[in-house]
Amino acid sequence: MINRFKVVLIYFYNMEIVINGCIVEINELPDIISFKNKTYQEIVNLKEELKEKEADLKKAETYLKYNCNHDWVTDSIDQMKGYKQGIIIKYCEKCELTFK
Ligand SMILES: [Zn+2]
Repeated sequence: MINRFKVVLIYFYNMEIVINGCIVEINELPDIISFKNKTYQEIVNLKEELKEKEADLKKAETYLKYNCNHDWVTDSIDQMKGYKQGIIIKYCEKCELTFK
């Protein structure tokens, strides 16, 4: 019972986070709530940025698909180290798009 109580205390009163590579301990509930809100907002922003980057990548790939004078080559990549049976891939030597 005592051990369980200690674990709960540690869990609630010490929270370590990493800021700029340094481990910082935050203990006050308002700080933890603020950290939670800040982290949530950062995740929302990163997801938005990721969507934009994926759209940019798609645009570049679509452009290359129709505008590169492709030079298709066939190669095999090993599925797992030590296994001879590989996956055959066909890709363009110039733009590196894979053949689909
Ligand atoms: Zn190409």
